[in-house]
Amino acid sequence: MTRKLYYEDAYIKTFETVINEQRQDNDGCWFVLLDQTAFYPTGGGQPCDEGTLNGVPVTNVEEVNGEIRHYIESKMEDTTGSIKGEISWNRRFDHMQQHAGQHILSAAFAETCGYETISFHLGKEILTIDLAVKKITEEEAVKAETLANIIIGEARQIQTKWMTAHEAADYPLRKQPSVSEDIRLVIIPDFDYNGCGGTHPHSTSEVGAIKILDWEKHKSHIRLQFVCGRRVLEQLHQKNKVIKELTAILQAPQDKMADAAQQLIERMKFQDKQLEETNHQLLEYEADALIKEAKPAGEDSAFISKAYQNRPIKELQTLARLIITEKEDAVVFFVAQNATKLQLVGAKGKMPDLNLKEIAPGIFSKIDGKGGGKEDFIQGGGEAVLSPEDLIGHIEKLLL
Ligand SMILES: [Zn+2]
Repeated sequence: MTRKLYYEDAYIKTFETVINEQRQDNDGCWFVLLDQTAFYPTGGGQPCDEGTLNGVPVTNVEEVNGEIRHYIESKMEDTTGSIKGEISWNRRFDHMQQHAGQHILSAAFAETCGYETISFHLGKEILTIDLAVKKITEEEAVKAETLANIIIGEARQIQTKWMTAHEAADYPLRKQPSVSEDIRLVIIPDFDYNGCGGTHPHSTSEVGAIKILDWEKHKSHIRLQFVCGRRVLEQLHQKNKVIKELTAILQAPQDKMADAAQQLIERMKFQDKQLEETNHQLLEYEADALIKEAKPAGEDSAFISKAYQNRPIKELQTLARLIITEKEDAVVFFVAQNATKLQLVGAKGKMPDLNLKEIAPGIFSKIDGKGGGKEDFIQGGGEAVLSPEDLIGHIEKLLL
């Protein structure tokens, strides 16, 4: 059994120890078992410590079947004698701030709103807790956050005590412990009593601050995002940077920013609508011009066609519809080459005695393509194996 120095004193940064064993796991990764360690293994929602053993980086620490495995970047050449361990204190202290902060915020939600925390995740940048409730209000979040920060400001002691389930029964625990012996209670007197195996600072003041960032519905409960300690400053720094950039872009101070963005979006929507109307008007002019170029083809029909390069098919559909509405004897064919594809729209007015669906296969077979539609309107596409002009020539022959 490895002596767990992190439980005796969470502030131990360096320590002397000896290697009891060096082995590889099933994936071939090397790890050592130590006589005593300050490296906290992943557990209870808290990520493991990192650091070095005699200068060799420790990349992961896991507790497996009672063994605390210190995974190392490379195999230790010499496993005899005393070695020096050093944990990455910035990482560990951050975890202590976050973990203690979580206890405080969870207790604050229980105290102010009666909402219990059902799970906790300590991520690289933010933390989340899941609250056993379907929704929370802004007011409730502010209330809990305020109480949590008051508890931090009061610099209350954080104690840890080992006890049996029988002894633990004397404390107002939030959750019944899952083990009956060696229960470790983390206690903030008159505020929070929790069975927990994590590392915590001596005083709530060391958490620094707690800030709730956001929350959302997750399954049947609320997942709440927050940060503690140094991460509050990091968040402030990031958000301040974004605000400064937006201030310059929107030409508006922070408190007018939402209004400025809203106005911008409304103006854009208005302009989009205007642009759409203008485009439609342009298509109407274009339709009139094409009608003037119509070639008579028999008694009840006139042929209108045109070839284009890089023109959206949607625009050509609208154009064809405008023409057949205005000129009832029109038979219209537009072909556009878009990259290596040919796209085609065919339409006819009320008068011509013609079924476009019947002639469609003869057109699309020319370009290895396919298409379909109705008697008076067809569309489709194929490969640009001939020019749009040549395809129109072919269609004209088919019709006349
Ligand atoms: Zn905990």
